[in-house]
Amino acid sequence: MKTDVEIAQETKMDNIKNIAAQLDLDEDDLELYGKYKAKISINTWKKIKNKKNGKLILVTAINPTPAGEGKTTTSIGLGDALHSLGKKTAMSLREPSLGPCFGIKGGAAGGGYAQVVPMEDINLHFTGDFHALTSAHNLLAAVLDNHLQQGNALDIDVRTITWRRVVDLNDRALRNIICGLGGKAHGVPRETGFDITVASELMAILCLADDLQDVKKRIGSIVVAYNHAGEPVRADDLKVTGALALLLKDAIKPNLVQSLEKTPAFIHGGPFANIAHGCNSVLATKYALKLADYVVTEAGFGADLGAEKFIDIKCRAAGLKPDAVVIVATVRALKMHGGLPKQELAKPDLKALEAGMENLCKHIENIKMFGLPAVVAINRFPTDTEEEIAFLENSCKKLGAEFSLSTVFTDGSKGAVDLAGKVMRAADRESSLQFPYTVEMSIREKINAVAEKIYGADGVDYTAAADKMIAQMEKLNFAHLPVCMAKTQYSLSDDMTKLGRPKGFRITVREMRLCAGAGFIVALAGNILTMPGLPKKPAAENMDIDSSGKITGLF
Ligand code: ADP
Ligand code: MG
Repeated sequence: MKTDVEIAQETKMDNIKNIAAQLDLDEDDLELYGKYKAKISINTWKKIKNKKNGKLILVTAINPTPAGEGKTTTSIGLGDALHSLGKKTAMSLREPSLGPCFGIKGGAAGGGYAQVVPMEDINLHFTGDFHALTSAHNLLAAVLDNHLQQGNALDIDVRTITWRRVVDLNDRALRNIICGLGGKAHGVPRETGFDITVASELMAILCLADDLQDVKKRIGSIVVAYNHAGEPVRADDLKVTGALALLLKDAIKPNLVQSLEKTPAFIHGGPFANIAHGCNSVLATKYALKLADYVVTEAGFGADLGAEKFIDIKCRAAGLKPDAVVIVATVRALKMHGGLPKQELAKPDLKALEAGMENLCKHIENIKMFGLPAVVAINRFPTDTEEEIAFLENSCKKLGAEFSLSTVFTDGSKGAVDLAGKVMRAADRESSLQFPYTVEMSIREKINAVAEKIYGADGVDYTAAADKMIAQMEKLNFAHLPVCMAKTQYSLSDDMTKLGRPKGFRITVREMRLCAGAGFIVALAGNILTMPGLPKKPAAENMDIDSSGKITGLF
């Protein structure tokens, strides 16, 4: 089979104006970035805001293998299938980060015959949103350090500064640095570091805000440090809220592109799925819902993290409700949950597959607990045998779960026509969203609710450090915020070696972080890296561009 970039390059794209026209958008609604990319004008909202919302389809997954189980690929293939059935469809997905693109994971524009294009642009600088976020984030850091240099009128306790710097690359050497070296004229020396841009609180803000004024309000409340009396110091106190907002004036506008099959796709925002909520912007989802009858969206990681945070953070903040949920499952990941070592996942093994089913089973139960109809999408890989697929289908039947075999990677929209039919029927059923917790509950009650109901844990332990931070957040009146759980994506527990459906375990919250601007508090169960590193052989080594501008090695 051809590589992703070869398939993408063979496609004749349609002018973005024609793609927009499918959603009844005209040239006045578009800010063109060449022939194939556009941002949607903020004024368009006034025109469409009173329209009825389309159906929202959330794509999530079982706990994945490190290679990913195909949520993005399935989302795009499902969108294409709905589109091929004559439904007015839009996708609403995340923008890829440059860091992983040059590392192991590669880009995030789908795969095979289910991709969004121009994939080279989407995976690289796209419309510059992440660069704008990087600049805005680092402006706040520069102003903070300058404030220290100019006499520290706010009495900032240098040891409490939480605002680091960001760059959109995997660069482990920048995780911990000392800035301000070189003498009096060169700043106040202090220990700090860099995160990857997608881990910036500004990214979460951009993705949760309703409009630019909301972005501004949220930026103003970012807590960057504490003063010597222990009171929060906010971006507002540094008087740069306006400057940061204006750097984001274009980044806030949703981007429109197309899939290989010319389905409109909004690609906007991409917060980390661990220390943030991991889904595309509220604005892109809201625009898509006003403009299309079916909107397919994705939440990062497995359903225990992705779907939970989609519901508890994004839906709660934006008043959204999914009409149906697709749970992507693969034979290889189920075999891993059934105990097969990673190197052997390509081997047929029905026993392991059977044992691994309990991971899928728990995720199906969880979606039901949210009150939402679920359809399992079996994402077929070339290595899966007929026997394994038949076994998996049979197991789903026995569970009484709605399921469909998806072959979008090799077949495009044709590979998900059955899935699309089942999803549409599921979305037509009455459902009412149940949140695992209410925001009024205490911080510990909220974390407990997620751990017990969603992960199946017996309870939660807190380190002394986490206890102290919870006490501080309660004292400073932040206890009413929803909780953003950060833990491994590979297990339902906080231990990546506990596969399948672990029982009799507790999770340990080691650290708490406040994101007052984004509007959540992060509970970290495990060591979460906010600046990834590169592998021994980075994907960057395979990439090139020739004299005609043809790109190779991007995937
Ligand atoms: P996720 O969004 O869940 O992380 P992706 O859709 O990005 O997963 O897929 C992860 C990787 O697996 C991508 O490189 C994609 O091209 C590849 N992939 C997905 N589905 C299939 C499939 N059915 N067969 C082969 N490769 C696939
Ligand atoms: Mg994805």
